[in-house]
Amino acid sequence: MRLVRRIVEVRELVGEARRNGLRIGLVPTMGFLHEGHLSLVDRCRELSDLVVMSIFVNPLQFGPSEDLESYPRDMERDLALAEGRRVDLVFAPANEELYPEPPTAVVAPRRLADRLCGASRPGHFEGVLTVVAKLFGIVQPDVSVFGQKDFQQAVLIQRMVSDLNMAVRVEVAPTVREPDGLAMSSRNAYLSGDERARAVSISQALAWAVAAFRSGERDAGLLRSQIRVRLDAVGGVDVEYVEAVSARDLEPVSSAAADTVMAIAARIGSTRLIDNACLGNPDPGLAKLL
Ligand code: AMP
Repeated sequence: MRLVRRIVEVRELVGEARRNGLRIGLVPTMGFLHEGHLSLVDRCRELSDLVVMSIFVNPLQFGPSEDLESYPRDMERDLALAEGRRVDLVFAPANEELYPEPPTAVVAPRRLADRLCGASRPGHFEGVLTVVAKLFGIVQPDVSVFGQKDFQQAVLIQRMVSDLNMAVRVEVAPTVREPDGLAMSSRNAYLSGDERARAVSISQALAWAVAAFRSGERDAGLLRSQIRVRLDAVGGVDVEYVEAVSARDLEPVSSAAADTVMAIAARIGSTRLIDNACLGNPDPGLAKLL
């Protein structure tokens, strides 16, 4: 596995691989890797010959009062995990390498970014799309793999690629969970023991909604309010939103269907967690809870 920090080096190594006929895959991450990230590597390996992982905590996607400074980092551990999963190339640039000066041009979403997570994180998705567009420009991957865990992000990236005619296939892989159902996240490291115990209520509430949907419940308003009741009953779970939206266009729905995504954001202590489930096709980790 190669670790490179400079854009010119990535271009050189990837360019050579491409000239040799290899398909290039990219898995963008902010590091502090867990099994969720590594599952994207596995999927990427199925779809490409050279797997590039980027590790970069992107300042552009953090709001002024968010956790940029405290975001967990452990490059040594990340490199060992990436190597263990047969990543070919890790691209871990310094801030100055990607942003030598404040960018003049950014990728700003016009729609779909003002709801769900975008409502409480203004500018967040502009930061995400800008860094992903830059990584696509640097690596020029044939395929790039993202997680369903951040499903609004995945939808926006798919829209960006389509709107800007980028020549990359975007693949979305299922959410990977802890055995009790909690969606894996680098931010889980912030949780105290007590908070961790409460955090499981989010995936449990989603599993309840999937089970209710399977039993025939189609009233999205009722599913949402029942989820709130369940989360409120736990105590110390400060719900930001519970939304039922169409997986295609993120439009809120009143009648739940197989492609409806139930999405939750909640604060537990100072940690903001998100999770979601497709009602008709839940990820295996959630389906196991039913
Ligand atoms: P992050 O490092 O949090 O920016 O995430 C990098 C990529 O990993 C994104 O595409 C995320 O959606 C994905 N990811 C994060 N957590 C999970 C998870 N539990 N399961 C699957 N993918 C995930």
